[in-house]
Amino acid sequence: MRAVDIIIKKRDQKELTREEIDFFINGFTRGEIPDYQASAWAMAILLNGMSPRETTDLTLAMAQSGEVLDLSRIVPNYVDKHSSGGIGDKTTLVVGPMVSACGLPVGKMSGRGLGISGGTIDKLESIPGFCANLTTEEFLGQLRTIGLVVTGQSTDLAPADGKLYALRDVTGTVQSIPLIASSIMSKKIAGGAKAIVLDVKVGSGAFMKTLEDAKELATLMVDIGKLSERKTLALLSDMNQPLGFAVGNALELEEAIQVLQGEGPPDFIEHCLTIAEHMLMLGGKATENKEARSMAKYVLADGSAWDSFRKMVIAQKGDVNYIDNPSLLPKARYVESILSPSTGYLSGINAQMVGEAAVLLGAGRAKKGDAIDYAVGVEVHRKVGDYVKKDQPLFTIHANDENKLQQGCGLLLAAHTWSSQSVEPLPLFYEIIS
Ligand code: URA
Repeated sequence: MRAVDIIIKKRDQKELTREEIDFFINGFTRGEIPDYQASAWAMAILLNGMSPRETTDLTLAMAQSGEVLDLSRIVPNYVDKHSSGGIGDKTTLVVGPMVSACGLPVGKMSGRGLGISGGTIDKLESIPGFCANLTTEEFLGQLRTIGLVVTGQSTDLAPADGKLYALRDVTGTVQSIPLIASSIMSKKIAGGAKAIVLDVKVGSGAFMKTLEDAKELATLMVDIGKLSERKTLALLSDMNQPLGFAVGNALELEEAIQVLQGEGPPDFIEHCLTIAEHMLMLGGKATENKEARSMAKYVLADGSAWDSFRKMVIAQKGDVNYIDNPSLLPKARYVESILSPSTGYLSGINAQMVGEAAVLLGAGRAKKGDAIDYAVGVEVHRKVGDYVKKDQPLFTIHANDENKLQQGCGLLLAAHTWSSQSVEPLPLFYEIIS
């Protein structure tokens, strides 16, 4: 078999066999198939799609490209969560500690930023010293002792996805239903999850722009979960405006800390409570959703979720002073508040444009391995449906470069749209697929 023939076959819209997919993934993982061929292959998949059977084979090949964990001796009913990616999505930083504080250990393999979507690991790495490169042994040890661990993709678990993910980020091959589904599900399967809660984002700031596409992605992942005997549930959640207010690595970390300390934006709190509720249900910690939600609320209110987060940061060698006192976190040189140019109801905050502004400021990567700027980003101050008067604060830009600040400002102003008529707030969730 030759990699080039497999690329050509996909380019010509033919269905790949399981052997061909295994050959490609194994060769790529071992470094025998170079990045340029993997990029061409990913582009052919993006353009021509994959059947559900090919996607399942790709998922399993990536899951089996490294170790597949068995966590049953540490957590019999291990539940994992994953978001398909969005703007201002810092959910793991809050939900992980909440669920762990409810007695259900959480060990999560998370990603870095992908395209305009931020990544949990980049957010955590804005804490000096934080180590997100744990070995499998360290991961298991911390899961056992602390009950909470968030690590980047190790070279042991689903390494094929780790390599492909970094390539897709910089080759315009993120937005593909089979590539997203296999990327997410391979990590979950390799990570040993018995049950999985998927947060599938839909809207301008999501990879899936329409409810129809989001449903297709969610259904595909739920089906892959079923085939691999994992209880899987997907929530379709709104990404037509940023989640919460903060977008950018240290800014989002700070917002997550606020929520863990009993404050923070209501939409983000509600989002976290809902995801935690479903994780607790699937993990068998509660028999009714209402009970699961009360548990999640309780651990936020009594500080035990915050305590779990602190323990995790300490265990992963992050300097805890920075989370105890977030004013120490990286800060941008220019922090500029922009006032509303009009009076009226906010009819839209285009999340894609907000994400693009954050990347332009330096919060994301333009090419593989680029350094990111933890300090920069955006705080939106309003939500769709709000009545805003001219000259009230609309958003704040955090920048380290004056030119970028000006460009970001233009993008962000254009992202806000207005109506003279009242506008309904956006829903947080659309549907559950299980
Ligand atoms: N999250 C992932 O882990 N992979 C994707 O491809 C998209 C979002």
